[in-house]
Amino acid sequence: MIWIKRMALVLSVLLVMVFVLLWWALNSYSPLPVDAAWQQLPEVGSAEPRLSVRFTGTTTLLISDGETDWMIDGWFSRPGPLQLAFGKIAPEMDAITFGLAANEVDALAAVIPMHSHYDHAMDAPEVAARTGALLIGSAATANIGRGWGLPEAQIRLFEDREPVVLGDFRITPIESRHFEFPDPGLRERALGNPDITQPLLPPVSAFDYRVGKAYVLHVTHPAGTFVVVGSAGFVAGALEGYQADTIFLGLGGLGSQSERYREDYWRETVVASGAARIIPVHMDSLTGPIEGPFLGSARVMSFMGGDAGLTQAFINDKLSRNPDLRLRTLPRYREVVLYP
Ligand SMILES: [Zn+2]
Repeated sequence: MIWIKRMALVLSVLLVMVFVLLWWALNSYSPLPVDAAWQQLPEVGSAEPRLSVRFTGTTTLLISDGETDWMIDGWFSRPGPLQLAFGKIAPEMDAITFGLAANEVDALAAVIPMHSHYDHAMDAPEVAARTGALLIGSAATANIGRGWGLPEAQIRLFEDREPVVLGDFRITPIESRHFEFPDPGLRERALGNPDITQPLLPPVSAFDYRVGKAYVLHVTHPAGTFVVVGSAGFVAGALEGYQADTIFLGLGGLGSQSERYREDYWRETVVASGAARIIPVHMDSLTGPIEGPFLGSARVMSFMGGDAGLTQAFINDKLSRNPDLRLRTLPRYREVVLYP
């Protein structure tokens, strides 16, 4: 009888340990791959911008020249890890209200998801509905818009390398590749079968937001020219002829990749665009709060993604070898000067 009691005790202790570990993995976050020495872009007020940017996190960016405001992604919902893995997700209306207010915006010319995964495209139709924006993207993004009831007149399809003009902005989508997950199972789940062929009616599984097409955006404006790489993937040679002075560079997952992949990515984005100024994006948590300081990935996500935390060391090595490069970070929500 004593051994049964002992077994029960051991089992309960084990169970408690598993729960504590699980709670920790779900509710604590890896460090953000951002060096404290990296400087922020100056805030509006210290200089008057011709072109400004506000950053929500991931790749949600509000770009404005004072005449024309447009947004990349417009993603504010933050479903948790368990909901992503086992549940269904849908745009969170309160988070969208909060996000638009924090960005101090109520009218937009366009909202442009970098690809159609939930963390880029899920909220875009609601943002378009509230701001009068065009939703512009792939056929998959269009079907996310239709599923949300966005009128056809507010949906526009990108054609590869066909510029879209918004005021003084000329935005060229360049078809590229999504970040390649090193894990074959996750890669197939997230990137296999890429199309959304029917209007998508949430709530649905996070994995129902198929990738669609992953774009790099090349943006020209009289104030300056920049490139936005929303996902750490690339197509060799794709940026030939698309030079820029600034690159918004997606860093998410880079630390889980091989040294070779990181080197190729750097060459096909930073080097290929000729940009001298790098602004890192998409390195913060997908599940952390929509307000407050940026957090790194939830431990459970870093663990599943196999992230060895090599991103920051890689970037610092590149910066030390290329003294002409400048790296500037973005604060959360505050308006900063992209071009004075
Ligand atoms: Zn994605």
